[in-house]
Amino acid sequence: FHSKLPNVGTTIFTEMSALAAEHNAVNLGQGFPDFPMSEQLIDAVSRAMRSNCNQYAPMPGWMPLREALSEKINRLYGASINPDTEITVTPGGTYAIYTALTTILRPGDEVIVLEPAYDSYVPNIEVNGAKAVLVPLNTPDFSINWDAVRRGVTEKTRAIILNSPHNPTGSILTEQDISSLRSLVADHDMYIISDEVYEHLVFDGMLHHSMLRYPDLFQRSFVCFSFGKVYHCTGWKLGYCVAPEAFTREFRKVHQFNCFSCHTPSQVGITEFLRDEEAYLGLGTFLQKKRDHFIQLMHSTRFSLLSSQGSYFICAAYDRITDESDTAFARRLTREYGVATIPVSAFYQEGSRNRILRFCFAKKEETLEAAVERLSRL
Ligand code: PMP
Ligand code: GLN
Repeated sequence: FHSKLPNVGTTIFTEMSALAAEHNAVNLGQGFPDFPMSEQLIDAVSRAMRSNCNQYAPMPGWMPLREALSEKINRLYGASINPDTEITVTPGGTYAIYTALTTILRPGDEVIVLEPAYDSYVPNIEVNGAKAVLVPLNTPDFSINWDAVRRGVTEKTRAIILNSPHNPTGSILTEQDISSLRSLVADHDMYIISDEVYEHLVFDGMLHHSMLRYPDLFQRSFVCFSFGKVYHCTGWKLGYCVAPEAFTREFRKVHQFNCFSCHTPSQVGITEFLRDEEAYLGLGTFLQKKRDHFIQLMHSTRFSLLSSQGSYFICAAYDRITDESDTAFARRLTREYGVATIPVSAFYQEGSRNRILRFCFAKKEETLEAAVERLSRL
């Protein structure tokens, strides 16, 4: 077979979740909550199914859902988004990012990707015949090195992918980043693909710098979201892309011949549930408590936690425990100590010599406690 993605294997999330299941390990690897989602939302979706909302939704998404999203965006970010022409419901955030990239890329184009990066970006670029230009984030704080970004720009650069809050590091964009981005795109015309699936998971009273806040940046952006992350239902695979009308028109040309439209009852149920602002506004505080509890517990181990300002991940160095590679250590931790994590080198194309593991703290207290009790034996 003449592979279009010869360097791609099975994702680290699949590998580590399978290893966790095989060894009955506590799974702090793949990012998904282990606590139940809202019963009210389940009821709303069930009601939609019982009231016959079971046929194809309109291609761009259930209109009342797009209207509710437009109102939410207006309240949160002050943007006026046309629900008819600027929002498209997608089967998840990953699909929204893939579709945006497919919409804009031609063979030979280049896209700036900041590493470590969520693992779908580079294959999404390469399958379109384009090239990822990899720019490392600064160590140890994983901030963006804008000089390095500028050095990566060529006449072939079509886009930059941003992800805030950031998976896997938990870093977030700052006001300074927004000014640097603004000056970059003023000098070099390019699209912004903004992965904001963790928009509500920002801690310590910090602000989420959505591209939707800044009209000049939004006018060149595809902004991608995921209901899975907002409503603790990653298995529903539902999200949306917000982009200016001219971009959305092209985005939908790709979308309509790929997925066409998304699961109708979930869209109807979520529309009703979106009225409950507390369900998303309270998320940051809810997850911050979990982060802080996990940090507290981890004092009893020899891991050194790095900072996490958002997302549901926190990274940890383990120099005091072993000098194994992060992949070897993550596998051994799962097999011998019964705790699954994600080695951060998996978020680099060429691997990384940093010895860091990513922990997902979107878990019940008892899950975090059981994991740390095992980790403290190291
Ligand atoms: N982007 C990032 C950074 C993520 O961590 C995830 C998911 N876990 C996604 C996109 C994808 O979201 P979805 O499951 O809705 O496709
Ligand atoms: N986004 C989730 C994570 O980073 C996993 C998604 C997946 O399994 N593809 O862990």
